[in-house]
Amino acid sequence: MALVKTTAIILKSRKWGDADRIVTCYSKNMGKIRGVARGARRQKSRFGAALEPFSLCRLNLFVKNGDSLFRISHVDLVRSSQGLREDLRLMDSAARMVNVVSAITPDGDPDPPLFDTLEQGLVSLQESDDPPFTALLFQIRLLGLTGFRPQTEHCASCGKTYLLGDPQFSPIAGGLVCQMCAAHQRVRCVALSRGGLSFLQQAIRLTPTILTRLRATGQVRREVEDAIEGYMTVVAGKRLPPVNFLSVALPG
Ligand SMILES: [Zn+2]
Repeated sequence: MALVKTTAIILKSRKWGDADRIVTCYSKNMGKIRGVARGARRQKSRFGAALEPFSLCRLNLFVKNGDSLFRISHVDLVRSSQGLREDLRLMDSAARMVNVVSAITPDGDPDPPLFDTLEQGLVSLQESDDPPFTALLFQIRLLGLTGFRPQTEHCASCGKTYLLGDPQFSPIAGGLVCQMCAAHQRVRCVALSRGGLSFLQQAIRLTPTILTRLRATGQVRREVEDAIEGYMTVVAGKRLPPVNFLSVALPG
């Protein structure tokens, strides 16, 4: 068995057997991996609370030949991100971020820029006054990083460059489509206003630091949310828990 050390963000953590925990994490060196922490649910576990979702840790792992499940032998907590688990609105948006990473990345395929984007995304969420909007910008950036950059320059279906009429975003084609192609899409297209399209184009192009200055409200924001939600469902191959999954039942 070989020992591997890596920095990782915990995406999911679930009970396993009587006292163990299985975690899915996104690691800097190895991409998405799964590991088992033996005895992690015992009261005096050496893992403490380090293996909670959204936390950033340094892991020591043992790899067994032919087994995709790692054995976690040691954890150093770097950042607990506890604030994200104590506020339902923040937790909803943080859950969306880790869910999309979990859904669209293959196992064991390292992508350090993606790791950095997730880490920065979770940090900026803690400081955000609009968590669902931060999660939306994160998802647009993630799509760009993973080869699913929304196409906004020409028809994503037939390639025609001059698009007449109001822009239509096709979740199946992954971008704008011309009127002719829009009529033949299996999944309903999302009509974008010129403002919605311009916002989406800016969000795709801007660097992460400038991204935080971007704003969208009302109709423009709803259009882009609908377009990205539809596209993300196609890319992930399933409908993910909505971004207000936990907080929707809260009064006010
Ligand atoms: Zn077309």
